Amino acid sequence: MTEHDVIVIGAGSVGLPTAYFLAEAGMKVLVVDELASSGQGQNKSAIGGVRATHSDPAKILLCSQSLGVFSTWKERTGTDIGWKAGGYCFPAFREREEKALRGILPVQRAHGLDIDWCEADRIGRLVPGIETRGLLGGTFSPDDGQVSPLLAAESFTNEARRLGAEFRFRESVTGLVTEGERGSLAVVGVRTRGPDGKAHEHRAAAVVNAAGAHASGICSMAGLDIPVLPDSHEAGISAPVRPFLGPLVVDLRPGPDGRTSNFYFGQNSEGQVIFCYTPARIFPGEDRRSTGEFMPTVARRLVDLIPRFRNLTVRRIWRGLYPMTADGVPVIGMDPCVEGLYLGIGMCGQGLMLGPGVGMNLASLITTGSPSIDGEAFDALSPGRDFTCGREVLK
Ligand SMILES: Cc1cc2nc3c(=O)[nH]c(=O)nc-3n(C[C@H](O)[C@H](O)[C@H](O)COP(=O)(O)OP(=O)(O)OC[C@H]3O[C@@H](n4cnc5c(N)ncnc54)[C@H](O)[C@@H]3O)c2cc1C
Repeated sequence: MTEHDVIVIGAGSVGLPTAYFLAEAGMKVLVVDELASSGQGQNKSAIGGVRATHSDPAKILLCSQSLGVFSTWKERTGTDIGWKAGGYCFPAFREREEKALRGILPVQRAHGLDIDWCEADRIGRLVPGIETRGLLGGTFSPDDGQVSPLLAAESFTNEARRLGAEFRFRESVTGLVTEGERGSLAVVGVRTRGPDGKAHEHRAAAVVNAAGAHASGICSMAGLDIPVLPDSHEAGISAPVRPFLGPLVVDLRPGPDGRTSNFYFGQNSEGQVIFCYTPARIFPGEDRRSTGEFMPTVARRLVDLIPRFRNLTVRRIWRGLYPMTADGVPVIGMDPCVEGLYLGIGMCGQGLMLGPGVGMNLASLITTGSPSIDGEAFDALSPGRDFTCGREVLK
């Protein structure tokens, strides 16, 4: 049996920054993950986009904090995590998308974001080679950017370790150690199974559930029913080409063959073009085998939008999971009926960009009793909210 101040379940996009900020605040932290090393869950599936330009106020505030962390990480730690400050661009080709994008500008600006509507010629300069026929304009937010998910995961791990955090890999959480009765339950630790098959017990006053696609299973160990349902998405990456594209680009239109809803891509700090789409028909579940449908479909969309992409060499494709909530907004905080179990779950398609902000707030909640963003916005993320009001416009 071991004793810590806080146990974090999951060394992923959320768990790692949470462990880092907790260790920075002086907590004795243990991180447990069933996989072999950091970032091997859905973190490494992400294409690296980081933006604060959402429609939900809490997500705007959390991702603004994340941008602050990612963009200054090299100065803070001396480690390059592939940060690229190229912004985000949402071009619009139809009035429907123009209306949706313009409609959320007031809330984005009210939260201090630098984002504006740009005419078509400016979008043409920001996205060189973009098809300009039918282009109405689009939004551009220069403060957003991209980061390498695996470099960030490795660096959060190293920095958290440097501050005293302990990591146990290949160790799966099989149960929660609880005290008290249903209705006034307190979580005081976790039970695990290690790589040798042996059972372990780790005790702490606070346990953070950052188990990504498996978060609901951890909740149910404390009698909580919080649906986080994974669905699968594919992505790919090219060989590097000369840097030409600043922003990460999101085309919100559905594809012409009915297979895709939106699609998005960017050029990372190493010159590789990294791309992804949201399938029109969602694939629920955890199947991560690549499909034969992805590459021809995404290639058509890439080349239709930027014809020069026909010369790209694709190096690798993969498939990963979005841990989805019903309203497209994460669940962060504590259930009033279960003391000591903190939730950083349901990150949907945005866990990388939310991670550091979520980590800062969970660390603040655990060490001071209050989040670091505005309390009212934070409460809208609580596990007790009404999940039937779809809030996020840009899920
Ligand atoms: C194709 C694709 C592209 C994406 N692009 C982006 C992007 O550009 N920007 C962005 O912000 N997001 C993006 N995402 C989404 C992002 O990858 C996820 O939202 C994010 O990784 C979820 O973070 P997490 O910490 O909740 O889960 P994870 O990173 O998966 O971490 C959870 C960890 O918990 C561990 N775990 C689970 N159960 C247990 C257990 N019982 N015991 C021990 N350990 C356990 C897992 O092994 C895992 O390591 C993308 C996703 C996909 C699939």
